[in-house]
Amino acid sequence: MQCPFCGEGSLVHQTRDMPYTYDGESTVIPNVTGDFCGACGECVFTDRESKRIGDAMLAFNKAVNARNAAA
Ligand SMILES: [Zn+2]
Repeated sequence: MQCPFCGEGSLVHQTRDMPYTYDGESTVIPNVTGDFCGACGECVFTDRESKRIGDAMLAFNKAVNARNAAA
């Protein structure tokens, strides 16, 4: 499948650990499955996976905010 973002690369179905940074703090969301573009690095996720990633990001944001509030 051709990449819908850059139109050049082709998407490869893979499971990866996805780095995520919020407010200067980094984490990794493990075992993210999606279609990744080798050319531009964009990725396409299923609705279910997007939801899971979104939840993981929100949970991390909350943890960072809580830590900063306590500091
Ligand atoms: Zn691309």
